[in-house]
Amino acid sequence: MKLVKLIANLGYGSRKQVQWMFREGRVTDADGEVLYADDQVPHEAVRVDGEPLDPPVGLSLAMYKPAGYTCSTKDKGRLIYDLLPPRFRDRDPVLSTVGRLDRETSGLLLLTDDGNLLHRIISPKSKLPKVYEVELAEDLRGDEMALFASGTLMLEAEKTPLLPAELQVLGPRKARLILHEGRYHQVRRMFAAAGNHVQALHRSRVGGLDLQGLAEGQWRLLTSTDLDTLF
Ligand code: URA
Repeated sequence: MKLVKLIANLGYGSRKQVQWMFREGRVTDADGEVLYADDQVPHEAVRVDGEPLDPPVGLSLAMYKPAGYTCSTKDKGRLIYDLLPPRFRDRDPVLSTVGRLDRETSGLLLLTDDGNLLHRIISPKSKLPKVYEVELAEDLRGDEMALFASGTLMLEAEKTPLLPAELQVLGPRKARLILHEGRYHQVRRMFAAAGNHVQALHRSRVGGLDLQGLAEGQWRLLTSTDLDTLF
């Protein structure tokens, strides 16, 4: 594939914009030799502004999503994509979120362009644990742990009961909830079913990955070691 197409597909700009990058000498090989739009050079050998190109497929990252950002490419208000380089929004294949966190939920969010990986993480079969830190409006009643662990709790408009979930009580209005599935607004709906209201929600872990090293709003590329840690 010609370099201009390769680089445009990665979201660095439209064909026209990428043509300009060539004219400005911003696309080089690893030794700094200027490359041209029609060149056909292995992906790994290309640099843009001295930086290696993003991977063609298999770009995965972890973000510390702040509350107040929506997991969507187009919406009113602040989007999680605003926290990433603009080219990540325009990639082909698309860099999509692995499941979603509500706008007001903070914490660990994964994104990937790798359909197989996405499926592996969100598939009900994977049962990957997701850990949520919850602050509640009312004191816990005391029966929530058994209710959530029962495997019989049915949420409104759902056809199957929830999988057993583990509740750790951290205070009268504070808890940690470990889920092995991801249904729409699941944590908020579970506490609503127990007569409570979630005031603040934070995801601290997905599988073996946590937020270590990331400040709110920051992101980092996932390495193959991270992916091993995840599962
Ligand atoms: N459950 C929720 O209710 N909200 C989230 O953002 C994630 C899990």
